[in-house]
Amino acid sequence: MESRTPPGFLAALSELSASMRSAGEAGSVGVISLVVLPDPAVLRLPLEHARKFEREIDARLRARLRAQDSLFPIDGSEWLVVLPRLSSAAVLTLGMLRLEQAFIDTPVQLDGMALQAQVVCGAAISPDHGQDAFHLLQSARIACLAARRGASGSLIYESGMEHSSSGVALLERDLRAAFSGGNELELHLQPKVHVPSGECRSAEALLRWRDSRGEWVPPPVVVSLIGRLGLRHRFNRWLFQRAAQTLHTLRLEGLEVHMSINLSATDLYDVEVPDLIEQALMTWGVRASSLCLEITETSMLDDTEGDGVADVLKRLRLLGVSLSIDDFGTGFSGMSRLKRLSVQEVKIDRSFIVDLVSSARDREIAASIIELSHRLGVHVTAEGVEHEQTAQMLAAMGCDYIQGFLYSRALALPDFIAWARARAGIAA
Ligand code: C2E
Ligand code: CA
Ligand code: CA
Repeated sequence: MESRTPPGFLAALSELSASMRSAGEAGSVGVISLVVLPDPAVLRLPLEHARKFEREIDARLRARLRAQDSLFPIDGSEWLVVLPRLSSAAVLTLGMLRLEQAFIDTPVQLDGMALQAQVVCGAAISPDHGQDAFHLLQSARIACLAARRGASGSLIYESGMEHSSSGVALLERDLRAAFSGGNELELHLQPKVHVPSGECRSAEALLRWRDSRGEWVPPPVVVSLIGRLGLRHRFNRWLFQRAAQTLHTLRLEGLEVHMSINLSATDLYDVEVPDLIEQALMTWGVRASSLCLEITETSMLDDTEGDGVADVLKRLRLLGVSLSIDDFGTGFSGMSRLKRLSVQEVKIDRSFIVDLVSSARDREIAASIIELSHRLGVHVTAEGVEHEQTAQMLAAMGCDYIQGFLYSRALALPDFIAWARARAGIAA
C-alpha cells in the first residue's frame, strides 16, 4: 500500500503512528480529514493565484491549530490534521469547528479578488475509531466523505457510516462486486480531433461504471473508492488490459486511432505499473506508441532524480508509450519545468477553455501554453471545447488537437467506431 500513496498521506501516517505510540495505553490521539471545496471561480485561477490561494488556506488552517498539532497537505484540496494528547472527543469537535470558522464569512483575498472557500471535516479518535494509525486515518476520511455526501460541515466517525445504505458502504459493496462479475467497469472513448486535418486520430478513454441502482457514478469517486478498498492494483491491470484490447479492436475495424488513458497520482509510486502496461501491450500485440498516459501536472512534481516517481516515469518513457500532462495550467510547475518533464503532449485544462471567447486573460494563457509547447516540440490538446467559436480561436492559435462536447461526449466502443467511421467519411 505504502508505495502507491502520496507523500502527504505517508507523512501523516508516520506522525500519527509516533503520536499513538507515545500516547501509550491511556491517551487518545485524534485525526481530522478536511476538504476545502472552493468556489467554482477558484477552478479558473491562473497559476500563481492558485498557488497563493492554497498557501492562504494552509496558513489559515495552521493558525487555528494548537502548537502540538500537525497539518499535512494531501492533494491541493485535502488536508490531514494530527492532534496528539486529546482529553476527549469533545476537543475534536471543537477543533473541527475552529477550522471551519477560519473560512466562514472571511473570503480569501487575492490581489483584489474575494474568494469563498467551504470546509468539510471528518474526524476520528483513538482507540475507539482505529487501533492503528492506518485505520484511524481511514475512519477520519470516511467521516469526511459522509460529511460531504450529507452536505454537513463536520462529522465524527461512527461505525454506521460504513454500513448506512445511503452511503459509501453500498458503493463499496457494488464496486467489489464489479471486480467479481457484478456491474462491469467500462471504458468509453471521447474523440480528439486533429485540427489541421479534421481527422479523429486519437481518443481519451474515460472510466464509466453504474452502481447496483443503475446510476452512473462519477469517475473520480470510483477511482478514489478503488484506492480506499485496496483494489488499485486489480483496477490497473483491468484498465491496461482493456485499453490494449480496445486498441486491438480498433485496428481490426480498420481505424488507426491512438488512445490515452488516465493514471492517478499514486500510480507513479507503483513500481509495477510499467510492467503491467508492457504485459497488456504484448498480450494484444499493440505498439507502445499508440498508447498515451495522461498524468496530472501536480503528480509529476516529484520527478526528481533518485525518486520513485522519476524511476517509474523513466521506465514508462523507455517502454515507448507517450506521456501527456493533463489539466495543464492548474498545477504549480509552470512552464519552466515543461522542458525537463519530456512529454509528448500537454492538455490545456478546461477551466481555461470555457471562457476563452470572452476572456482575454484565458486567451493569453492558452496562446502562451501553445507557443511554448511547440517550441519544445510538444503537441497541445485543448479539452472541454463546447463551441465552434472556441474551436476556431484555438485553431488560429495553432492548437493541434481539440476534444470536447462540440464533437462528442465519451462513447461506448461500438458507438465510437461508428462515429469515427462517419468522421473519416467527412474528412476524406
Ligand atoms: P479528465 O482526465 O480531465 O477528463 C476529462 C473530463 O472532462 C471527462 O469527465 C469528460 O467527460 C469531460 N469533458 C470532456 N469534454 C467536455 C466538454 O466539452 N465539456 C464538459 N463540461 N466536460 C467535458 P469524466 O469522464 O467525468 O472524468 C472526470 C475525471 O475522472 C477525468 O478528468 C479523470 O481525471 C478521471 N478519470 C476518468 N477515467 C479515469 C481512469 O480510467 N483512471 C483514472 N485514474 N482517472 C480517471
Ligand atoms: Ca484526462
Ligand atoms: Ca483533463
